[in-house]
Amino acid sequence: MSNKKNESQRKDRITWGQTLRLHLRAVKDIRRICPHIFTIYALSALAKAVTPYVIIWFSARIINELASARRTDVLWPLVAWTVAVSALLGLVTSFLSERQKAIRSNFWQHVRKLYSEKMFSLDFADADRQATHDLLSQIIQNANWAGWGLCLIPDWFGEILEAVFGIVSALALSVSLFTLPVPASGGWLVILNHPLFVFLLLALMLLITAISGQCISKAVSYYEKIGESIKLGNRLFGFLTTMGMEQNRAADIRMYGQRQVIGSYWDENDIFSSSGLMARATKGPMGLYSGLSAGVSAVFTGFVYVFTCLKAWAGAFGVGSVTQYVGAVTALSSNVTKLFKTAGNLRTNMTFLQTNYKFLDIPNSMYQGSLTTEKRADRNYEVEFQDVSFRYPGTQNWALRHISVKFQVGSRLAVVGENGSGKTTFIKLLCRLYDPDEGHILLNGIDIRKYSYRDYIDLFSVVFQDFQLLSQPLGANVAGREDYDRERVRTALSDAGFDDRLAALPKGLDTLLYRDFGDDGVNVSGGEAQKIAIARALYKDAPFIILDEPTAALDPIAEAEIYAQFNQIAGDKTAVYISHRLSSCRFCDEILVFDHGAIVEQGSHDTLLSHEGGKYRELWNAQAQYYEDKETGSQKCLQQ
Ligand code: ADP
Repeated sequence: MSNKKNESQRKDRITWGQTLRLHLRAVKDIRRICPHIFTIYALSALAKAVTPYVIIWFSARIINELASARRTDVLWPLVAWTVAVSALLGLVTSFLSERQKAIRSNFWQHVRKLYSEKMFSLDFADADRQATHDLLSQIIQNANWAGWGLCLIPDWFGEILEAVFGIVSALALSVSLFTLPVPASGGWLVILNHPLFVFLLLALMLLITAISGQCISKAVSYYEKIGESIKLGNRLFGFLTTMGMEQNRAADIRMYGQRQVIGSYWDENDIFSSSGLMARATKGPMGLYSGLSAGVSAVFTGFVYVFTCLKAWAGAFGVGSVTQYVGAVTALSSNVTKLFKTAGNLRTNMTFLQTNYKFLDIPNSMYQGSLTTEKRADRNYEVEFQDVSFRYPGTQNWALRHISVKFQVGSRLAVVGENGSGKTTFIKLLCRLYDPDEGHILLNGIDIRKYSYRDYIDLFSVVFQDFQLLSQPLGANVAGREDYDRERVRTALSDAGFDDRLAALPKGLDTLLYRDFGDDGVNVSGGEAQKIAIARALYKDAPFIILDEPTAALDPIAEAEIYAQFNQIAGDKTAVYISHRLSSCRFCDEILVFDHGAIVEQGSHDTLLSHEGGKYRELWNAQAQYYEDKETGSQKCLQQ
């Protein structure tokens, strides 16, 4: 409750100065990603704003002439000019509006690119943080909902300019309404020449415009008011409308009736239904305020009509000018209302824009060193963890505690332990995806933070558990680029046990993986994908090769093949190997046993197995039991 109060107080404190500054910043950012958008909008606004006044002006001249002297030598040129100018303006306006539409239709892609570039550039710790993803999803939902954030800024820019141009043109056309006096023949109506009338009419116009603008602002501000309550419904809507389109959900949806499970949420939170929150708001206060605004403007138009007609009646100007003045003054009022409305939109947009910049301003706070790792032909890179501890940002528990270990160059190191014991976190720190909270990691005696980040991470080839391949040709996936050494890619794929499958692929290395970008793509199985990921790590040929549960999706025969060849595949690299299956770690020189974030044992397989009551022995016995109880062909294979 008090949080809500604080939040609303914070919003109340947003000033017009802040609103303008942040929107100007957004304009600069938008110009960077979409350079010509504001020029097109400005020209289009100018053309749209001026066109009606030019036509009003010419029409007034024609009507005046028709109602007075009716000189054909004046009328014909006037008609010709009216037609020519109208046609030219129509042409220019529609050309500019088409340009505007074209640039507008791509604008959302530019904005999405901006967000995605930001995600690419974030430190891993921030890219991995749930809060970052929540923020981005909120931004995208706000944009999808009603264009809040960056999306509508070009439109509002156009509206503001259109209103300003409109006001200036209307003022220019309506000045003579006040300056042309009622002649003495006008009788008692000469009273209309009194400056008080000018003052009264202007005051009325300002008052009514302000009321009308306020009504519109109030109507728009409901978007912000219901924004919080609408968030969950909006998320559900986004999720439910795309859920059925996700290929990897299709089987579970059918097998477990997931559509029905979430159907009730959908029904309860469908904010866009005819009785939902949005509909209630538009039928209720939002609609009421919009209607009120239109009604108040109509009252003003009535007053202008009376004043203008009385002056014309009294002979201050011709009947044609009545059209001009009524048109100009009512347009003046509606443009001022539009200005208020857009200002209200900007104000409402502040909360959404602040969310945008909260994301776009996430800093890269990871220390970037400058030392190079010098490419050593002897691969003599020695890494040491010195009393390293680490907690994931925003969590209380230590994921790693007091880790001290040294990697011998060229050695085979296995990391074992139960789920959640810290194995993957250990690798993430080793690859500097995260920095330790305590202690140091050294490369050849120097803190790894002092090295150039790119240089340092280039020392590692990693196959993560949740590795991702691209929907690109196989060879490009393995090499990580389009121009690559085909022979080396083939060797890497063969070392990873993919050669038989490669031979069966119609386009070999040029076969497109998956079908996202082409019907001729090939869907590979989980095990095949894992082999490609291993080949990718081998192709990189970095001094360290790290495999995190690399064979989880492989069938036992393929797994046994990889193990058998692993020593040879790893060559002179330092290899780190994480596995649940202890039998697969026996070939390693050194085994680290993790438990609750700490290394509880360290040594060779035989040494660790001989520790009575040791963790490794406990894990080994548990697994050996399993193999003995359920001896099948595949499990024998695991024990090789
Ligand atoms: P393992 O690889 O041994 O299964 P992890 O290194 O993945 O274990 O996890 C170690 C601990 O850190 C676990 O308690 C896990 O819940 C926690 N953890 C892992 N990843 C994150 C994360 N991104 N944010 C917060 N906690 C995490």
